[in-house]
Amino acid sequence: MKRILENIIEDCRKWTSKGEVASYIPELAKANPEALGIWVTNLGGEEYFAGDWDIKFTIQSMSKVITLMLAILDNGTEYVFTKVGMEPTESGFNSITNLETHEQKQPLNPMINAGAIATVSLINGETADEKINRILNFTRKITGNDEIGINYNVYESEKKTGNRNRALAYYMKGNGIIEGDVEEILDVYFKACSMEITCKDIARIGAMLANDGVLINNERVISREACRIVKTIMVTCGMYDASGKFAVHIGIPAKSGVGGGIMAAVPRRMGIGVVGPALDAQGNSIGGIKILEKLSHELDLSIF
Ligand code: GLU
Repeated sequence: MKRILENIIEDCRKWTSKGEVASYIPELAKANPEALGIWVTNLGGEEYFAGDWDIKFTIQSMSKVITLMLAILDNGTEYVFTKVGMEPTESGFNSITNLETHEQKQPLNPMINAGAIATVSLINGETADEKINRILNFTRKITGNDEIGINYNVYESEKKTGNRNRALAYYMKGNGIIEGDVEEILDVYFKACSMEITCKDIARIGAMLANDGVLINNERVISREACRIVKTIMVTCGMYDASGKFAVHIGIPAKSGVGGGIMAAVPRRMGIGVVGPALDAQGNSIGGIKILEKLSHELDLSIF
């Protein structure tokens, strides 16, 4: 397995020069566009890795999987999906028009920015600090990594430049989709996106999802049913407006982030974390997608 991963990383390096690191959050532009790494955690607990698996980067939109799980734990699926839809989108992850055209004025799904801001608003906690601490602790528990924290440079950078997210949030507040203090909700959202992780951490989250909501130590984190819903939404919406193509060519529930990470869960087999900060036009890691494509073919991982 180690050999397979090393060969795939070597093969995919050339792709990194065809993408660009995200720059709309200025701090993200500092990432190394050539980095490429992978970590695999299988359900027997064996772990394999190759390339730059140990670089730290921010979780960005992969946090949307975590905040969705926590919102479901706090409110139940029925209530959560009165506030956010389950439909894929052909618009970008920060689309504003989508919010206006949908009949109930709900965000289309929890994997785009508007949807995640809505799920963050549903997370229990008296204060913003309490909410982000619950998100951090939940992430630490699933990854088994107590050291996960926030990259404050990225957080400040997002907070300063996140006016599109602000627009989405205030629009949703105006339509009664979110309640409470909008700036506080955004603060929790920006911090959740700025959690600093490695491929190993996201592979572990993927492994829990692959294992129907149960950690390697047999502790259940979410119900089997909630896990099924989360994975289904990852298949239909997790790779932004490239989710359909990703399902056809790779066929694994996955969620990407503009920090260059992709979290993947191969049901009953393994969790995979990849990183490659150079992104394609849709905001997905260009090298990361190639890695997953090769691995999926090599190990026959497509669920379809
Ligand atoms: N924090 C980023 C934003 O709100 C997340 C985007 C992403 O990873 O897709 O724009």
